[in-house]
Amino acid sequence: MANILLKTGTLIVGDGRTLDDTAVLIKSGIVSEVGQDLKRESEMEVLDYSDRVVMPGIIDTHVHVGYDGIAADPDEVRLLTDEFLSIRGGVVVERLLNHGITTAGDAASRGNISFAVREAIEKGIVNGPRLLVCGRMISITGGRDPMSGYSEANGVDDVRRAVREEIARGIHFIKLASTGAISAMHTESMSPQFNLDELQAAAEETHKVGKMAHAHAYGDVGIRNTILSGVDVLVHGHPLNRENIDLMKEHGTMYMPTIVTYYESQLHHDDGDLPEYMVRKEKEIYPLIEEGVKNAVTAGLKMVLGSDSGMPYTPFGPSSMEEMELMVRIGGLPEMDAIVAGTLNAAKALKIESQIGTIEPGKSADLLVLAPGKNPLKDIRLLQSPESIERVILKGKTVIEH
Ligand SMILES: [Zn+2]
Repeated sequence: MANILLKTGTLIVGDGRTLDDTAVLIKSGIVSEVGQDLKRESEMEVLDYSDRVVMPGIIDTHVHVGYDGIAADPDEVRLLTDEFLSIRGGVVVERLLNHGITTAGDAASRGNISFAVREAIEKGIVNGPRLLVCGRMISITGGRDPMSGYSEANGVDDVRRAVREEIARGIHFIKLASTGAISAMHTESMSPQFNLDELQAAAEETHKVGKMAHAHAYGDVGIRNTILSGVDVLVHGHPLNRENIDLMKEHGTMYMPTIVTYYESQLHHDDGDLPEYMVRKEKEIYPLIEEGVKNAVTAGLKMVLGSDSGMPYTPFGPSSMEEMELMVRIGGLPEMDAIVAGTLNAAKALKIESQIGTIEPGKSADLLVLAPGKNPLKDIRLLQSPESIERVILKGKTVIEH
């Protein structure tokens, strides 16, 4: 792999800074230097983008490669084999890369689907992003629909077993179901499921091996238990009241609101394609999202990009980028901070910030070169169109060109 000298007009670092007229030196897929006076060496490829904005590849910490983001009824998955879902998973991850998402976290898929897709990417069979998987979601008995293929655990010792089992399967992070879900027919979203001591045991086992615990939670009690347990990332977290925001500040809990999946879904409530129980539960939660997210932003919580791509009306690719727009438009987050939610903060939520998340020496060269005149700091919406991204570079290699 040739060394690359990439000249940039505006470099969005990923940590909230921009650098003007800066060059990035890439050696063996790793950023080796960033600076204004980097000299061209022999046998070096020069990419002159000194009139362009260059930014880190986006990290979406929450997708489900076992779903397609189009089917309105998640129940259809019940009829499809794991083999079919794995093949389709290999197709949907290419859409992520095409839209500039260079790293994705699979936040639970049935059986071995996410592992199969990860392997196909790593072996170069599929042109996809770096995929970090959590394996199966860990839930109480009856906490999820059986078709989701969750891992069942009840009681402190059994929860420890379930976490250890996923770790042994080679996961990157742990996903817990603290409460019921919109997509699980027989649960109410806001009903607490795991007790505090079970969540504490899960977080402890996860942290023993230096990994991150993410937990799905709705409703005051389930959200409070999640924060108190030491779980690292609160997922969804609606409605988020002020007491729980204060608790999150105290405990350093990161917040992944996944706004886009509710926003897009509520536009289709009257279409008659979603199951009745989903519409009913979404109608209960959707009007409460805005206030909680606004208050979270005002309180300065660490916001994390997760789209829930794969869920109904949440297609792979544009949804990750739309989540940043909604953080700005609904949550009042400045554009730069929305980008940080999808770069450095997302890397931290997956505990991979030593390797990705910013354009800095020692990190993987995962970069987006934007088309002429395109600057997401002026208009974050332009990232939703792949034509705005001229080149997607992953590990120093151009993987997409538009
Ligand atoms: Zn999800």
